[in-house]
Amino acid sequence: MRKINFIDLQAQYRAYENEIDSAIKNVCKEARFIMGPQVLELEKKLEQFTGSPNAITCSSGTDALLLALMACDVGSGDEVITTPFTFIATAEVISFLGAIPVFVDIDETAYNIDPTKIEEKITERTKAIIPVSLYGQPADMDEINILAEKHNIYVIEDACQSFGSEYKGNKSCNISTLSCTSFFPSKPLGCYGDGGAIFTTDNEMAEKIRSLRVHGQTKRYHHKYIGLNGRLDTIQAAILNVKMDHFEDEISKRHKIAAKYSEKLKNLDGLVVPFVKEDRTSVFAQFSVRVKDRETVVAKLKEAGIPTAIHYPKPLHLQEAYADLGYKKGDFPISEIVSEEILSLPMSPFLSDEDQDYIIETMKSFYNA
Ligand SMILES: *Cc1c(COP(=O)(O)O)cnc(C)c1O
Repeated sequence: MRKINFIDLQAQYRAYENEIDSAIKNVCKEARFIMGPQVLELEKKLEQFTGSPNAITCSSGTDALLLALMACDVGSGDEVITTPFTFIATAEVISFLGAIPVFVDIDETAYNIDPTKIEEKITERTKAIIPVSLYGQPADMDEINILAEKHNIYVIEDACQSFGSEYKGNKSCNISTLSCTSFFPSKPLGCYGDGGAIFTTDNEMAEKIRSLRVHGQTKRYHHKYIGLNGRLDTIQAAILNVKMDHFEDEISKRHKIAAKYSEKLKNLDGLVVPFVKEDRTSVFAQFSVRVKDRETVVAKLKEAGIPTAIHYPKPLHLQEAYADLGYKKGDFPISEIVSEEILSLPMSPFLSDEDQDYIIETMKSFYNA
């Protein structure tokens, strides 16, 4: 039986093996493991790529979100608006700081926060909005930025899945004052462990975040803020520097693979392929379709050697950890229905033509097509 990887990180390593090995070896030889020159080199590359004036690498996507909220002085009693249809990290950091996540349902076409439902949730305590650019497609940033400006609140794009995508000609990570991405191995740009970055168009904010990342210090052993240890390892930066050089090429492969999936699966009755709005692109961190009777489809695909994943099976307002927020089933109906039908298929720039054809044919056979 065919054995297909959900995300083929081994094939990616084989493709860049020599470059990656030598980059890691250099770090070992130089022994500047913390904030070595490769970290600065990566930050410059990230700035160049996104067009953002400030890229600040850090220890994970979660810490990127935490640092961004800390930079906005989000704390006890503050409210932060976000989507319930995301990975828990988006909301977790809000709660971690003693603030309250206030959920707003998603738009049924692209699965991102519905901007028309945000304003009614804004109160005097609202400090920020965190739209998530889910599956790699930027959220409706213009509408959100306008609302935020009107009410004087911050916008932090959770771009953990969308690094490399575009919105009206600008790169994700450079379409709001603050933005956060993740270099978790399976993200579009992944390292070999945990990593992340914060982007900001505000130079003062950037300085504060750089300080918060290293225990709030302004110079060694002089601490202006209460911060944390949130740096990116030099070894991870060195690996990312290699991967950045191949990233444009990987993005076009992602587009090609996603276009083929969509083209071949779009007419199957009862299956919904991803919808990307006209003024933006997706990097397809996930290629997620909607199916009826998901359990059966998952089981049949598994039988055929095709792994799948569910992003995400339970919206945040229904999670046990958030029981005390007092939400109930029915509060965010679109998030709820999508979470019951969504299904991610194998997706990576290294998915071979043959494997993709096999996945498509297998899917079609369930629909007698
Ligand atoms: C992956 C992810 C995060 C967290 O990133 P880590 O690097 O794993 O901490 C946050 N938000 C979203 C939407 C993600 O997909």
